Amino acid sequence: MMGQMMSQPLLISTIIQFADRNFADTEIVSRRAEGDIHRYTYRDCHKRARQMANALSNLGVKMGDRVATLAWNGYRHLELYYAISGSGAVMHTINPRLHPDQIAYIVNHAEDQYLFFDITFLPLVEGFAAQCKATKGFVMMCGRDRMPAESKIPNLMCYEDLVEQSSDQYEWPLFDENSASSLCYTSGTTGNPKGVLYSHRSTLLHSFSALMPDAITFSSRDVVVPVVPMFHVNAWGLPYSAPMTGAKLVFPGPALDGKSLYELFEQEQVTYAAGVPTIWLGLLNHVGQNNLKFSSFKRTIIGGSTCPPAMMKTFQQQYNVEVVHGWGMTELSPLGAACTLQRKHLNLPEEQKQAILERQGRAIFGIDMKIVDDAGLELPWDGKTFGNLLVKGSWVVSSYFRSDSGDVLQDGWFPTGDVATITADGYMQITDRSKDVIKSGGEWIGSIDLENIAMAHPAVQQVACIGVSHPKWDERPLLVVVKKPGADVSKEELIKFYDGKIAKWWTPDDVTFVEALPIGATGKILKNKIREQFHDYKLP
Ligand code: ADP
Repeated sequence: MMGQMMSQPLLISTIIQFADRNFADTEIVSRRAEGDIHRYTYRDCHKRARQMANALSNLGVKMGDRVATLAWNGYRHLELYYAISGSGAVMHTINPRLHPDQIAYIVNHAEDQYLFFDITFLPLVEGFAAQCKATKGFVMMCGRDRMPAESKIPNLMCYEDLVEQSSDQYEWPLFDENSASSLCYTSGTTGNPKGVLYSHRSTLLHSFSALMPDAITFSSRDVVVPVVPMFHVNAWGLPYSAPMTGAKLVFPGPALDGKSLYELFEQEQVTYAAGVPTIWLGLLNHVGQNNLKFSSFKRTIIGGSTCPPAMMKTFQQQYNVEVVHGWGMTELSPLGAACTLQRKHLNLPEEQKQAILERQGRAIFGIDMKIVDDAGLELPWDGKTFGNLLVKGSWVVSSYFRSDSGDVLQDGWFPTGDVATITADGYMQITDRSKDVIKSGGEWIGSIDLENIAMAHPAVQQVACIGVSHPKWDERPLLVVVKKPGADVSKEELIKFYDGKIAKWWTPDDVTFVEALPIGATGKILKNKIREQFHDYKLP
């Protein structure tokens, strides 16, 4: 027997329609690539998204066609999120920090019909536009006054012209909720980038679940900043979840340094933000060095790479900002787990609570997790045994876009490439990415633990721990450290800092100091580059 309830497809267009009807005058504030601040409302956004949907249709964009963006977080980018996906085409966000050849590869692989870009990226696009075989036109996201007098880009159009010339009379089409909505390529630290093709259904289910109180949670009383870029896994879904809740949205544009972020947070009275640890490092340094306080900032979700416990403590103890540690990946839309306490933990001593909160967290509803050994056998949830982390759920990839690797699943589970432990309560902790694990004398050493300890030293700004070859033990840990400006620490002091904090044999064999660490397109430390650099390093 079937249920007798309405069946409405879960479509992205319903989100902006809902925000328009229920939060018409809630503001969306953007620091534009042009440099100034732009303000309008959800109602305005919906109107312009409909105009852009008409413009796309006039350009000949059809259901399933890919339309690409190379853009910072801002209102025009948000309009495209709704205009492209809402009209049935596929919103393809591209990371502008990738190498131009990689961008051209991605555009060609996806066969993007049009490419929209912020003014900042004009020289970048001029550099690779000729290589884009299927692309019929390029649109610069600005008004007529900012368009170049001439450009090497063929068929270059102006965003504001397209909007102004198009009617706002547009009915969002209804179609199968399993239709493709958006496309995001993994950053491709190994091999060519791989495309993850999200659906309307997966996107909406992810947004519902991610918004639960133990995960990304915010409400119509919040002022939300996705600092995480809209070109990186849909800014963790915030461009969908914010209009779903009616939260005021604030977009930082290209200005992601500590000073610019702090000023924007204060000016707009931001309460909630999401970002990767490297971004927060800049913000905390600025606030610390200038003896500032946050007047409204209350809560942040930090993920993408391990949030160093020292950073979590600074946020919580010095600035009263609650940190939720989250874990995810492009292949998971991205959220898989988030870390919050349960009722039974509330009376634990502070240190024990802190130790729980430092984990990557519990699976959010809709995601199942398990750890397995190399033979695929499930390992116990005892908080100690570590193994390969596998996941499944309605917003997990099943195969990559136009890839000949076929089904990427193992018995219906997606292998994340992460190594983790899980406690009896389901709190997962990443000990490493499988390729970063340090293998010493047949045992594994988790580099993340070693990095977290070093990050707690007052003189350490950033650190990466890698395995370097060792004649007896196969590999031993080497710490590669960037010191805080004006601070000092010796190798010996740093190694001594591990005493009593970790099993003796895990202690790094050596420390080397560098000016900076290589950072990838999504703000993560590139350990493969560091391993190459220190490939022949001789341990003492
Ligand atoms: P990629 O860098 O592979 O393009 P993602 O940005 O999707 O893709 O990164 C996913 C990976 O980032 C995860 O598999 C995991 O290794 C790492 N990661 C994400 N969040 C965390 C976290 N909170 N702690 C540790 N590692 C994390």
